[in-house]
Amino acid sequence: MTTYAEFHQRSLTDRDGFWGEQAKLVDWKVQPTQVCDYSNPPFAKWFVGGVTNLCHNAVDRHLVTRPDQAALIFVSTETNQEKVYSFRELHAEVQRMAATLKELGVGKGDRVLIYMPMIPEAAFAMLACTRIGAIHSVVFGGFASGSLASRIEDAAPKVVVSADAGSRGGKAVAYKPLLDEALRLSKFKPESVLLVDRGMAPMEMVAGRDKLWAPLREKNMNVVVPCEWVDATHPSYTLYTSGTTGKPKGVQRDTGGYAVALAASMKHIYCGEAGETYFSTSDIGWVVGHSYIIYGPLIAGMATIMYEGLPIRPDGGIWWSLIEKYKVTVMFSAPTAIRVLKKQDPALLKKYDLSSLKALFLAGEPLDQPTAQWISEGLGRPIVDNYWQTETGWPILAISKGVDDAPTKFGSPGKAVYGYNVKLLDESTGEELTGANQKGVVAIEGPLPPGCLQTVWGDDARFVSTYWTTIPGRMIYSTFDWGIRDEDGYYFILGRTDDVINVAGHRLGTREIEESISAHPNVAEVAVVGVADQLKGQVAMAFAVVKDASKIPDDASKLALEGEIMKIVDKDLGAVARPARVRFVTLLPKTRSGKCLRRAITAVCEGRDPGDLTTMDDPAALQQIKDLVAAK
Ligand code: AMP
Repeated sequence: MTTYAEFHQRSLTDRDGFWGEQAKLVDWKVQPTQVCDYSNPPFAKWFVGGVTNLCHNAVDRHLVTRPDQAALIFVSTETNQEKVYSFRELHAEVQRMAATLKELGVGKGDRVLIYMPMIPEAAFAMLACTRIGAIHSVVFGGFASGSLASRIEDAAPKVVVSADAGSRGGKAVAYKPLLDEALRLSKFKPESVLLVDRGMAPMEMVAGRDKLWAPLREKNMNVVVPCEWVDATHPSYTLYTSGTTGKPKGVQRDTGGYAVALAASMKHIYCGEAGETYFSTSDIGWVVGHSYIIYGPLIAGMATIMYEGLPIRPDGGIWWSLIEKYKVTVMFSAPTAIRVLKKQDPALLKKYDLSSLKALFLAGEPLDQPTAQWISEGLGRPIVDNYWQTETGWPILAISKGVDDAPTKFGSPGKAVYGYNVKLLDESTGEELTGANQKGVVAIEGPLPPGCLQTVWGDDARFVSTYWTTIPGRMIYSTFDWGIRDEDGYYFILGRTDDVINVAGHRLGTREIEESISAHPNVAEVAVVGVADQLKGQVAMAFAVVKDASKIPDDASKLALEGEIMKIVDKDLGAVARPARVRFVTLLPKTRSGKCLRRAITAVCEGRDPGDLTTMDDPAALQQIKDLVAAK
């Protein structure tokens, strides 16, 4: 039997042989002629010469063997709907959507922006795009008009697919007004907006631009739309993610490499088999939703649950009840969700038959030991932490249980996944740290394995300058995370090296929040930092300098301004980015060269020693923050 170490080693030393074998897990119209073309580093082209289609691999190929098996299981505890689509039904719905998009002028390579709640039509739209070779760009439904506008501008979509409303905690959240505002803000205007009317919020339709999905679907009831066969390197989608600068980056994914990477991960990491049910509690607006609600499970021939609702409504047993009902074998969630469930009645965990479940995978943010222990004891099943990013599309660090059953270690997402040549680099010298238990920046030597980002949408130079450094003869990708590796090869992630924060598993750029707050007419300057939080992992904290302090003479006026600022963030970026608090100071702690000392602010907020402050310009600035934190 191959040990994991041998498996991983081979993926690097016999890269083409290894991935050539994995490529057999998917269908090809034309077989690739070259496994990896890395002649122009850091740009890697996977499965060159191969011709395939993502939607074919996720849907059509299962029509032969499992047409009547469940493919998409939609459960909404918001609208009390539950509907199971077989592969045959999913195939029909996707074709109706594909035909509609084509009628709206969408062709191969065109972008389609999807701003949708967690409803089946969102899945149909994604699959319809890849079916016809269009490039989808899903924007998380919790983002508001400012975030949406910048993504529309960057993606330049021919069509936007949206809905009247989402729902949260039983209350409708109107999407259309946010979309209309975003379209007003965006310099780029799509030709058409396709709208799903759930009957939850009124929609003002713009003549000529806005079209309703229902009548178009009706018209295309029996339509046949064949898959558009595309090169393996054809982009399948872009997904925006935050970084150091305010402008989000469009992570661009290919087709063939992504299909192979997902199929292989379903086998080696998630151990999901065709005919079983996968339940990922994420949202289609995030990378986990792309890879492990939609494409991964479907490629593997599994049924996938798409859940709209909260984990605690109608009660904290809802997810466990779905495991029982649909005999879920693989579940994927985030530590924050488990921390929320931990506060519920523990009896709920024992109320349902969870015997079908093989493992629970958790990712997106650090998994703390008490949470891991609680859920591991409660479920009596392996809990597998795995670490990755929007950029990579699938795990960088995990325990590949399908290869060998290596033990997990609390606090560690495991070992370097096959295909990833993971390194730790010294932050200042950039040199590789080879010893055990040394802290460095988690990095990956190129080429990145299949499935990872090809480039930043429309900006190859930004891709290279943001992520890559060269050490003689080699190019290294930075994850922007700190980590250490122990003597057994297990990694521990210690937080971001940049200004990205992680709130409840949602990645947010502090610069984006700062830019949004700065739009308030009385804000001169602001610093936003991530501060440790027991439930959400981190929350955003803002410290603002006002232009006219006489306007906030007392606590009541400060609170009022705080409220106004929060509303601006809600409206611009979405409640997901709203800081927990906005506090007011007369100056921000800066170095003499004018760089804001965010790390020192974070430390003070977390009650830690801010470290070396010799470069600080005026110590009174940090003292103000200390006083505010002490006073609460
Ligand atoms: P995203 O691109 O939104 O998936 O966020 C990726 C970032 O989330 C990583 O760079 C890490 O900072 C963090 N992250 C993801 N998974 C884990 C994990 N298992 N443990 C610790 N941090 C994680």
